[in-house]
Amino acid sequence: MSTDLDSLLALQADDVVIHGLQEQMAALEPRIRELDQRKQRTLDAIGRTSTAVAAEEKKQAWLRDKLAEHKLLIERNQTQMDSVTNMKMATAAVAQMEQARKIVSGEESDLLAINRRLEELRAVLNSQNNELAGVETEQEAARAEVASQRVSIDKEMEVAKAKRADAAKLVPADLRSKYDRIRGGKKRTEAVFAMSGMSCGNCDTAIPMQRRHVMNNTGAIDLCEACGVLMYFPG
Ligand SMILES: [Zn+2]
Repeated sequence: MSTDLDSLLALQADDVVIHGLQEQMAALEPRIRELDQRKQRTLDAIGRTSTAVAAEEKKQAWLRDKLAEHKLLIERNQTQMDSVTNMKMATAAVAQMEQARKIVSGEESDLLAINRRLEELRAVLNSQNNELAGVETEQEAARAEVASQRVSIDKEMEVAKAKRADAAKLVPADLRSKYDRIRGGKKRTEAVFAMSGMSCGNCDTAIPMQRRHVMNNTGAIDLCEACGVLMYFPG
């Protein structure tokens, strides 16, 4: 009965398809972005661990030098002790030796602690590097997949737009511009709604009987004054 309505609904169906394709396209971007962010977080973590490793290595080198120096000192003390001739000198040499040994033993346990920390930090660094490699592999795969999805969505979009252009030709110009205005103005996906009982199918506002009657009898497409969409009487 109402060919205008049929043409309009066909046009809207094409627009819904186009909208779906646009959403599919938009959904591809966040996936790449999420992987980029994860890679950056991993790189930051690697940077922090590397800095900590470098600092511990510096301490380790410094401590090794000190330790070598102090061990040499003990050796020298030992030689001196062999050549002392009186008790007083011997007591002094023993005290000095004890002191040096205490220092060396403290340094040795510090060095052990640093070695342990370095071992832990290097293990962390290793697992962070593994994670980075994993993210990069994932990224590469995702990029390739997104690129191929983009190509296929583009193809579907081309077909959908051509179909939409044909469908638009069948809708009378004034009705079409009304429809385009409603969709464009409020960025709606749909602009045409079937009435739901006595109410607008979109906002559920009750429509006066008089207008319902006209729509029912003539197949007219009417505007909902509450939400601004086009309404029609189903069936
Ligand atoms: Zn409404």
